[in-house]
Amino acid sequence: MPEFSHDRLDAAGVARVRDLLARLRAVPALADRYASIVDIQDLQTLAAVPLMLKDDLQLALRHDRPRASAATTWVFQSGGSTGAPQLGYAPTGLYMREVYEQWRPIGPDDVFVNGWSAGKMWGAHFLVNAFTDHVHCTAMNLGAMSRDEYDAWLAFFAAQKVTAFGGTPSVLRLVFGHARDAGVKLPDLRAVLYLGEAWSDQLDDDLAAVAPNARRWGMFGSTETWVVGTNTPDCPADTWHPLPSQLVCVGDDEMLDFTTLNPAGLNPVLRYRTGDAGRFVECACGRPGRAFQVLGRRDGLIKFRGHLVNVDDLVRDVATVSGVARAQLVVHEQGERGSVLEVLVLPSAAAGPDVADAVRGHLLASAFGPSIVFQRNADALRVSVVAALVGNERTGKVPNLVRR
Ligand SMILES: [Zn+2]
Repeated sequence: MPEFSHDRLDAAGVARVRDLLARLRAVPALADRYASIVDIQDLQTLAAVPLMLKDDLQLALRHDRPRASAATTWVFQSGGSTGAPQLGYAPTGLYMREVYEQWRPIGPDDVFVNGWSAGKMWGAHFLVNAFTDHVHCTAMNLGAMSRDEYDAWLAFFAAQKVTAFGGTPSVLRLVFGHARDAGVKLPDLRAVLYLGEAWSDQLDDDLAAVAPNARRWGMFGSTETWVVGTNTPDCPADTWHPLPSQLVCVGDDEMLDFTTLNPAGLNPVLRYRTGDAGRFVECACGRPGRAFQVLGRRDGLIKFRGHLVNVDDLVRDVATVSGVARAQLVVHEQGERGSVLEVLVLPSAAAGPDVADAVRGHLLASAFGPSIVFQRNADALRVSVVAALVGNERTGKVPNLVRR
């Protein structure tokens, strides 16, 4: 039996779920699937509702093109780095009042820089602006920076006594890694907000050097579900407290699904699977109620020349080699000849000229990952030192795996 974040479904929750079901039944391509679901009265009956995948939600949105009542309907788009773009609809305000009621990383006295890239219909930048509308802080819309702008902007942050900075962890790592290498100090910075990717332990090291007073605050969600949960510096970085209007479910296979109970929610998110695995935990922060830990994507396992490789683990392992700021895997599919795994290495300022050899040696000697493949076929592994990893220009996200 799947487990839910809430103990029970109240009357408003039941009404919302019935409404979502009616919307999905009205989609011709989905009608059959939901036809046998008679009624929802509680979590027990909700547990029998079929799971929804990304394509199902996109079908439903194409069919009913939701409209906000008495607000502008905003359309956002996610994906593109690892799959086809997904649409998500949200009314003005982007549901951030509830987030603000639950989560206070910054207050009116803060000077906050929004470092999520803006434009091309990605939601994070605008969502965080909607959040700052509730905070009444001083906010600066920076958006994406290019590498040659870091020094000037970092000097600006220091001069403006910036106290809070937010962005995708890939972007945060570039900014704070650069600041650390350049010896920049941001003593006023006390909050770093993240959304869009998992936190990285290397950021803790960079922040300790650049901004020792800064602590991390996270939001978890997607363009389809919107913000599902938040965490504080006292929570583990991969552990989230669900918002009251977000019903989180852990299936028997440890896969997470989400149901949006907010009656104003435009996306028909009913038992919706994003592809993340997870489990319920008691959070170390001591806050009562069920928190969920995200265990990463199950599609992070790939088969390389017959061996299962956990992409995230391998990328993390390479990053432990001295001189490596960050790594990325590129699989070159070459049919009969067998695939080649290329490890792209972004060197840190401390990297010597032999960093590629060090990575190769580390991978060949490791008991971990596909070392046996590389020992037998030296040409199956390539290590390249690069000036920039392969990223999504729109969002600044850097996926751990690229297929060529
Ligand atoms: Zn917590």
